[in-house]
Amino acid sequence: MKIEAVRTHLLDHPLSVPFESASGRFERRTHCLVEVVCEDGAVGWGECLGPARLNAAVVQAYAPRLQGRNPLETEKIWLDLYNFLRDQGQRGLAVTGLGGIDVALWDLKGKRFGQPISMLLGGRFREEARAYATGGFRPAGVDRVEAMAAETGTYARDGFSAVKIKIGFDVEEDLKVIEAVRAAIGADTRLMIDANHGYDPLEAIELGRRAAKFDIDWFEEPVLPELLDGYRAVRAQQPIPVAAGETWHTRYAMREPLAQRAVDIIQPNVLGVGGFTEIRRVADLASLHGVRCQPHCWGTGISIAACLQFLSALPHDPPRPEPRAPMLEFDQTENPFRQAVLAQPILHKGGVVAVPDGPGLGVEVNRDALAAYALKAE
Ligand SMILES: [Mg+2]
Repeated sequence: MKIEAVRTHLLDHPLSVPFESASGRFERRTHCLVEVVCEDGAVGWGECLGPARLNAAVVQAYAPRLQGRNPLETEKIWLDLYNFLRDQGQRGLAVTGLGGIDVALWDLKGKRFGQPISMLLGGRFREEARAYATGGFRPAGVDRVEAMAAETGTYARDGFSAVKIKIGFDVEEDLKVIEAVRAAIGADTRLMIDANHGYDPLEAIELGRRAAKFDIDWFEEPVLPELLDGYRAVRAQQPIPVAAGETWHTRYAMREPLAQRAVDIIQPNVLGVGGFTEIRRVADLASLHGVRCQPHCWGTGISIAACLQFLSALPHDPPRPEPRAPMLEFDQTENPFRQAVLAQPILHKGGVVAVPDGPGLGVEVNRDALAAYALKAE
């Protein structure tokens, strides 16, 4: 089994209503898929987290190093690619590009052995995952408080038992949004807030103190990811559990937030943290430090499938008779190719998503969708 080619597929679609988080405005959905092809015709699929064109360039820079390699050697290949860009890389695009490749190699490995990746990671602790709806971005040109209440009320009626909304714009307005959303989803639906590092530590502390009465499960990325002392201050001075991790790539970036107890919940992204090879090490580190691991998920159905495989194999921690299960982050915002890239879409039923049990990621890619949503040359 030898790797013959590494291809990238850039997918793109303009949004009907642009939206914002505190860290940026979305006019389009653009994602980069990775296809690793072997000489015997076997194909593995991965996806990169973050800017699609830049990720594609990084993947293509790695590609010559994969030529002729055995795709089962995930650990050896990971180290070789990481080391190739180590001096100028270490995190960011150097790792998100590597993560897309690593996921494709694990997909190939699963297909080679006829087993889902979750089995290769040591076994399936769960066959399904409770999903939380991610949405609640700031849409362009409408009243945000009303829009958020209407949107999240729909998620609760669709059966989601938990929703996450975007804050980090302005403390007073964000509090109005949180109050309206809590009223819209009712007392029984779990609520999480994500500031996308839009606040400084003082604002985050004020928001957390005043929002706690709305029964918030976690306060995600309150401040800039570089400010670990800011995280510690927010964690110490307001009552909501603090979560972060989607921008911390590899075990090296996770080490200090965990060792310093900067967060209560760590949120590695399978694609962003460096693929399956690396996220299992991060999960072990989190367990070692007694920090809850609740993965981040964003992207197409490939990304969702990867997250589900990891979730399935994430050990109960602690292993009590009825253990707490981690949730799937399930983006509900506009993305016409999220499910179209899959031959069989991954859907929720009453807020619960089944973990695919086919080989590798357990999904088949719909090549017609790749063609239909291919990024047009500019
Ligand atoms: Mg987030």
